[in-house]
Amino acid sequence: MPELPEVETLRRQLAPRLEGRRLDALAIHDARWCAPLAPAVVVDALHGRRLEALGRRGKYLVWELEDEAFLLMHLRMTGTLLLDPAGEPPYERVRFTFDAGAHELCFCDPRRFGTGELALGAPALEAFLALRLGVEPLSGQLDAAALRRRARGRRAPVKAFLLDQRNVAGVGNIYADEALFRAGVHPLRPAGALTRVQWDAVARGVREALVAGLAAGGASIDDFRHADGDRGAFQDEFLVHRRAGEPCPVCGCPVVKLVAAGRGTYACERCQPRPRRRRRVAPA
Ligand SMILES: [Zn+2]
Repeated sequence: MPELPEVETLRRQLAPRLEGRRLDALAIHDARWCAPLAPAVVVDALHGRRLEALGRRGKYLVWELEDEAFLLMHLRMTGTLLLDPAGEPPYERVRFTFDAGAHELCFCDPRRFGTGELALGAPALEAFLALRLGVEPLSGQLDAAALRRRARGRRAPVKAFLLDQRNVAGVGNIYADEALFRAGVHPLRPAGALTRVQWDAVARGVREALVAGLAAGGASIDDFRHADGDRGAFQDEFLVHRRAGEPCPVCGCPVVKLVAAGRGTYACERCQPRPRRRRRVAPA
């Protein structure tokens, strides 16, 4: 699933080509994309308006159209956005036409989990985002104190904590593994048990992993593609993610695969010591 670096890569490719242009037509071929709203409602709200800015929050692309009409796009599992593809690409669900065909943008999504949601007016946008997303990790606001406060008392593993978008926006399975490895923190360590020093390392690890992902144009381990169809390169730079059995880049011990937060998770259990089992009181 595309995470912050993948979505931001797309945003950076699309924004200079599309900002300032008029959305002349919006063809929604799959009503599931904007459900529960009917496609006609979404088309009415957006078409004919100029795209003032293409932003991002967490894994959402935020299309800001004239008069504070916002489209919030989430690519979910398999969504891609192709700019000016030749012909009709497979699994096309939505097509945007800008400036009388100067640019065509296709949203393609074989598994159809991707969504497009409307927010009308800045307060509606703020409410939408506040309900779903926590701190934006590259905004300068991700710090140990905030994470530790949020995690207090939580028994859930730190990996689950990082995957919850209401804590840190934009981190998914790849970047959570890479961040925890950089931080030297085991993914199964209970979030509420991390020390201030460990949260510092996690905050830094998240930022560093995301920045590395962005610099490589994101990771293309499955469906993610750039707006021109190219692949990202970050999958070639993973430190531990999907590298089970390979030597840890720091200590040489084999990387292990385990399950945390219900997801395939990769770690070096020498660099990221496993938390000690709590001692059980034997029944009388
Ligand atoms: Zn190691």
